[in-house]
Amino acid sequence: LIVLDGVNKWFGSLHVLREVNVAVDRGEVVVVIGPSGSGKSTLCRTINRLEPINSGSITFDGRPLPAEGKALARLRSEVGMVFQSFNLFAHKTILENVMLGPVKVRKEKSDVARDRAFALLDRVGIRDQADKYPAQLSGGQQQRAAIARALAMQPKALLFDEPTSALDPEMVGEVLEVMTSLAREGMTMVVVTHEMGFARHAANRVVFMADGQLVEQAAPNEFFTNPQSERAKDFLSKIL
Ligand code: ATP
Ligand code: MG
Repeated sequence: LIVLDGVNKWFGSLHVLREVNVAVDRGEVVVVIGPSGSGKSTLCRTINRLEPINSGSITFDGRPLPAEGKALARLRSEVGMVFQSFNLFAHKTILENVMLGPVKVRKEKSDVARDRAFALLDRVGIRDQADKYPAQLSGGQQQRAAIARALAMQPKALLFDEPTSALDPEMVGEVLEVMTSLAREGMTMVVVTHEMGFARHAANRVVFMADGQLVEQAAPNEFFTNPQSERAKDFLSKIL
């Protein structure tokens, strides 16, 4: 579904993605880990073209990523993104946040969008918070709302960039639970996270990055018990 082939990306003179090759199949859950500054967020952001690349190619669903216009808008609705910092609209209710994309971008009728928004809020366990504003919710509830909002666009894939890093520890579990159930239901997911429990239990594959390079990738069990590179061994020794 997602194929990166020889992708290079520079920020000025900084080479942040170096010849990255990675393919994500439909229904696959890929967890991206690696030290700070290794290019994990940048990798994620290139996939829905929040960041353009300098060379190489990225295809989604068999087509090169569009650079602009309606095709780019469609790509962004097909590839949802969930950020560390929720990014909900503060002046809109939770229900409105979830309905907005479908009504504005997908031109859905508002009663249809409302019914689906309620169903999605139910699915992430916060239906009773529908009429509140983001600031009235806990961090975990806000992040679950952000996931519902991404799902409302009926994406073919979801990208998560450290979705639990801004949360108080007691709220991490509820968000990972929602993500785990999405994974089980067959959603294609690319997840940057430091939650190794999630990587072990929900990922099909772990991708390890360092200095902009994809150093190794393997099934989680294989990666955690038998990392191949010195850098991965070193990284794991610091976090496990
Ligand atoms: P972290 O774990 O800290 O989130 P990361 O692996 O997500 O790190 P990136 O955010 O992708 O790393 O950053 C990779 C490199 O690119 C870093 O050196 C960072 O400082 C740099 N960088 C990221 N975004 C920009 C930008 N918009 N302009 C210039 N440099 C950037
Ligand atoms: Mg990052």
